[in-house]
Amino acid sequence: MTAPHIGGCRCGAVRFEASAEPHHVSYCHCGDCRRASGAPVSAFVGFLADKVAFTGKALKMYENGPVTRSFCGVCGSPIAYVDERLEDDIYFMLGAMDAPADFKPTLHAYVSEQLPFLHMSDDLPRHLKSSVKRPDGTAP
Ligand SMILES: [Zn+2]
Ligand SMILES: [Zn+2]
Repeated sequence: MTAPHIGGCRCGAVRFEASAEPHHVSYCHCGDCRRASGAPVSAFVGFLADKVAFTGKALKMYENGPVTRSFCGVCGSPIAYVDERLEDDIYFMLGAMDAPADFKPTLHAYVSEQLPFLHMSDDLPRHLKSSVKRPDGTAP
């Protein structure tokens, strides 16, 4: 996989492009991602925010504490989240990428909230909570 990495929502009203390689690909099992995605587990591809450009006017935001999630205002597809404590980064839903198979997760986050019937047989590192340290030591 080489940049640019492109993606967008289900209907095409939101498109984005990252001009650099991702620095983070992970699964997240937390309840907040579960609500936001509707799926039992989410996966994210993290880029430096200043390497990402959006096109279209349909992007909507939902702010919840330090975390702001974005989604398409037309079709509702979840797109990304940003965390004000990690201001350089943006994390896209892996499924929003046009070539999702290019982004193999390297770890599991929040396995403390993993659903008991969900079994994923890989040898990836498993973090009880966040895998990315926040400056104040907490996590969303
Ligand atoms: Zn859309
Ligand atoms: Zn999460």
